[in-house]
Amino acid sequence: MIAVSSLKIVVVGGGIIGLSTALACLRRGADVTIIDRLASGGDNCSRGNAGMIVPSHFVPLAAPGIFGQAMKWMLDPESPFHVKPRLSWDLMKWGLRFYLASTANQVKEASPLLRDLNFASRDLYVRWNDEGIQCSLAKKGLLMLCCTEKALEEEAHLAQRARDLGVPAQVLNADETSVLDPNVTLTIAGSVYYPKDCHLDPSQLLESLRNEITKLGGVFKTDCLVKSWKAGSNSIYAIETNQGDIEADEFVLCGGVWSEGLVHSLKIQLPLQPGKGYSLTLPNPIELPNVCSILCEAKVAITPMGSALRFGGTMQIGELNQSIDPRRVDGIVKSVPKFMPRFRVQHFEGIQPWCGLRPVSPDGLPYLGRTKAWKNLTIATGHAMMGLSLGPITGELVSQILHGIPTKIPLDRLSPDRYSV
Ligand SMILES: Cc1cc2nc3c(=O)[nH]c(=O)nc-3n(C[C@H](O)[C@H](O)[C@H](O)COP(=O)(O)OP(=O)(O)OC[C@H]3O[C@@H](n4cnc5c(N)ncnc54)[C@H](O)[C@@H]3O)c2cc1C
Repeated sequence: MIAVSSLKIVVVGGGIIGLSTALACLRRGADVTIIDRLASGGDNCSRGNAGMIVPSHFVPLAAPGIFGQAMKWMLDPESPFHVKPRLSWDLMKWGLRFYLASTANQVKEASPLLRDLNFASRDLYVRWNDEGIQCSLAKKGLLMLCCTEKALEEEAHLAQRARDLGVPAQVLNADETSVLDPNVTLTIAGSVYYPKDCHLDPSQLLESLRNEITKLGGVFKTDCLVKSWKAGSNSIYAIETNQGDIEADEFVLCGGVWSEGLVHSLKIQLPLQPGKGYSLTLPNPIELPNVCSILCEAKVAITPMGSALRFGGTMQIGELNQSIDPRRVDGIVKSVPKFMPRFRVQHFEGIQPWCGLRPVSPDGLPYLGRTKAWKNLTIATGHAMMGLSLGPITGELVSQILHGIPTKIPLDRLSPDRYSV
């Protein structure tokens, strides 16, 4: 790619979204500084996740049926979804917006967009991998494993919608699933196989991206807390941090779930709730599947990473902290033997759960684009369960926006102003 830019860009946030943005801008020749309040390689949501790249996930979180299901799950302390009840105007407003967005029409309109973003991002991962950005990318597909015939029927229905959208999907019975992944013993009714999905090792990816960014001249400011903005009437000229002010031509906010609080003073409404999730990684699993999978009824993601096996799940809305709820972790652990009978609850003893906070918008779609009120502020966050998948394309689109290149994917639905009055 030809270096043509003379832009000075500050990226707030060194998660997958910030790093992807920094890389894409550096490759256009920009001068990029990445600010993060964590130490180098610190623990953000991008590190311990399930590592899945998911063109199969074309349905946003806000979809018909999710509200009723969530209400049922609220009564079960080990369920995969929970909203911590508390008197919070922001949480109530977010909940109402989520409810209003959970319509068939919104899914119909958002699905082709999510498909296009996911496929474009997958292509970029393949390219990164070919270019030597190491992440152990495995292009082996994803299995949606179903214990019951009822779940299989629902997944088969979704598979048909996937095929209608051009996302390949195959419904398999239990024997066909075992042929596809002979490395693991399963007690299931069947599965849906999405051959275009992939998996990778997110820690390795982040490390490799940081190395590449440094090689291209990107500057990391670590342990650097962004406090506020210094702005004129319609543009920002500096960012105020605990290490002093940092000036730039363009500012990109990729602060994950903390982004909402960072734009209050700019009078931008960016509703986000933390969607807390956990992962547990077995270093020496009794069986090592070949293909990554999701246990459909339990909503648990299982991903081989080298010789280890990671189990991720749970969406606890509304807790902006990294405290661990052992009942939810138990919910993940207890679900595994129901699908994979050679695994025992005891295998997880002594394994320290990791916790991450997904940035969740009320309509389940990312915020991606420039803001109307501030001509040099671009926002890229709110990717919820798909941040890893959508990282590379988000970075590329932000870089195109900053460099005045028309984006091939229409981004109106993702406007960061969509909840601002
Ligand atoms: C259990 C679990 C499993 C998941 N599995 C998958 C998966 O398989 N596939 C997938 O696509 N997605 C998955 N996700 C979702 C994915 O991890 C997130 O969507 C993604 O990591 C969000 O990336 P981000 O860069 O927006 O945020 P983050 O990774 O949280 O990065 C934001 C950064 O901003 C910094 N920051 C915030 N505020 C400030 C400030 N004031 N000053 C300086 N720095 C600041 C933070 O320190 C942080 O480093 C999973 C999530 C969880 C919890």
